[in-house]
Order: sequence, then structure tokens, then C-alpha cells
Amino acid sequence: MRILIAEDDFTSRRILVAILKKWGYDPIAVEDGTAAWDALQRTGAPELVLLDWDMPGMSGLEVCRRLRKIDSSRPAHVILLTGRGEKGDVVQGLDAGANDYISKPFDSEELQASLREARDALAHQATHDPLTGIFNRRAILDRLSEELSRAKREKGKLSVGMCDIDHFKNINDARGHQAGDEALIAFTQCLQAQLREYDCVGRYGGEEFLVIAAGPQGWIEEGLYERLCVRVAETEIRTKSGPVSITVSIGVARGTGPSTVDALLAAADDALYQAKAGGRNRVAYASQDGRGSGKP
Ligand code: GH3
Ligand code: MG
Ligand code: MG
Ligand code: MG
Repeated sequence: MRILIAEDDFTSRRILVAILKKWGYDPIAVEDGTAAWDALQRTGAPELVLLDWDMPGMSGLEVCRRLRKIDSSRPAHVILLTGRGEKGDVVQGLDAGANDYISKPFDSEELQASLREARDALAHQATHDPLTGIFNRRAILDRLSEELSRAKREKGKLSVGMCDIDHFKNINDARGHQAGDEALIAFTQCLQAQLREYDCVGRYGGEEFLVIAAGPQGWIEEGLYERLCVRVAETEIRTKSGPVSITVSIGVARGTGPSTVDALLAAADDALYQAKAGGRNRVAYASQDGRGSGKP
């Protein structure tokens, strides 16, 4: 994993580079804040950054503040290196948007723990939707692909429900985007509350979600999608702009070993279209099982 180190002190910089290499990281070192800022703006910049606080030119604090002004779904994880350590300074560092800080001279165990935490946080960020906290598109598609592989190995079955909130645009228009965001969060909580051990949910796009029901045997939804529909419709969502009600339409496709992710998604999308055309607030099942044979 690549780590950008910005440290003006030659000795500290050299020690950091050596120790990070020893721990299996791939450090890139620069000697001031301006160089760090330049490096961080390039595409494919490291996601983990060790920034010395005191540097000539741009300080680590200033680099951090600038970084946080960028609107990014994958913000860098910043660890400030500080020779200060007074409480006020720490607060100032965290206010600037640093994720963590290490006082110099640093303790190797503390640094190691901090890097471990950073890796975990970045891994979580890469697989979760920042608004709702559930799996993001990439992660839920990975899950779907894993479940299909499992279905192949174990001769199991799975279903994927493409859930699209009905007339969601109206909520944004009537109550504002913030209320829309709150409704999305409440909606995902409502879905999650209904899921069982083998089910999982992720955000597929704006107001579209995938619910995967998998399991070792049989068609395993057992009314899951119908339950989701009913629960969503009867749940009153409280937002700061007042209560809102929503409904959801769900298109379900079922798969077995020979199905492919693309075919399943296309079939679920077709079924979703049927659910919308049929009047919304309902579940429709694909007539294809994700590989071209008939309805079960
Ligand atoms: P339909 O029943 O046909 O699905 O109607 P709809 O209004 O839900 O569909 P449409 O695709 O026209 O609008 C989707 C809306 O979802 C538009 C978009 O602004 C909103 N949306 C997507 N992502 C977000 C988000 O993260 N937050 C908020 N507040 N709104 C979002
Ligand atoms: Mg310094
Ligand atoms: Mg939609
Ligand atoms: Mg919609």
C-alpha cells in the first residue's frame, strides 16, 4: 500500500521511509507541504498520508484543510505528525480534518497501530456508501458474484431484488434534497431490519438498491421482497422537514450456478420495469432465471 510522507526533517523522513518499507508499505517521501499538496492532487494519489505539522511553506495543517475542501467520495486518510502534543493543538489538527495524529518522536507501536486503523478505515470506505453506510455498488456486485460462485459450487440458488423508490424525485422537490437524504437513510434502515442471515443489501445507484437473498437450498426468499414492500410503505419516515412516506418497487430475478451477474441484473431490471408499469409499490418476478430458461 502506498503512503505519502511529507516531512521536512531529513533524519525523520529517512527513518519513516525505512520503517514503512520494513512493514511492507510503499512510501513516497516529499520534503514540504507544497510538494505534498501537488502529489495529492495527481490522479491515483496515495490514500494514506503522513503529514508533518511544521514544514516550511505550506504546513501539514494547511495541506489537510485544503484536502478536506475537495468533495470526494474517497477522501485521503491523514495522520498528522506533531512535535507539539498540547491539547489545543490536537483539537486544531482534528478540526482541520486529520483522522489521527502521532506525536514526535514517534513510538513505533503507536505508529503501527495508527496505520492499521487507517487501513481498516480505508477498506471500509472503499466498500461502503458514505450516505447510508451500507455496501456500495462495487461491493454489492462483488457479493453477487461471490454468491453466484457459491451457488455453482454448492448447487444453491439465489435471488436478487432490484429495489427502486417510487417517485423519489417528488420528495426532493417537495421537501428538499436534505430530506431526500434522510429518507434514503431511513429506507436502508427499514430494509436492513427485515434481512435475515443470508441476505444482504447495497446501494446500486441514487435511489436504487440491490437485495440479495442466498442460501444453501431452495428458493429462499420466503416472501422477503413482499415483506420489504409492505414494511417500507407502512413506515413513516421522520425528517427535519416533517414526516414523509415512500413506497418501493422491486424487480426480482432468480439465479442458479449457470447464471451470470449481467444476466441476473438485466432480468431484475426488466422485472422492476414491470413492477413500475403495474402501478408501483409492488414486487414483480422475472420470467427468466438469469440464463434464459423459464419461470420456476
Ligand atoms: P420512479 O417511480 O419512476 O422511480 O420515479 P423517481 O422519481 O423515483 O425516479 P427518477 O429517476 O426520475 O428520480 C430519481 C431521483 O432520485 C432523482 C435524484 O435526484 C434522486 N436522488 C438520487 N440520489 C440521491 C441522493 O443521494 N440524495 C437525494 N436526496 N436524492 C437522490
Ligand atoms: Mg517539520
Ligand atoms: Mg431510479
Ligand atoms: Mg425511483
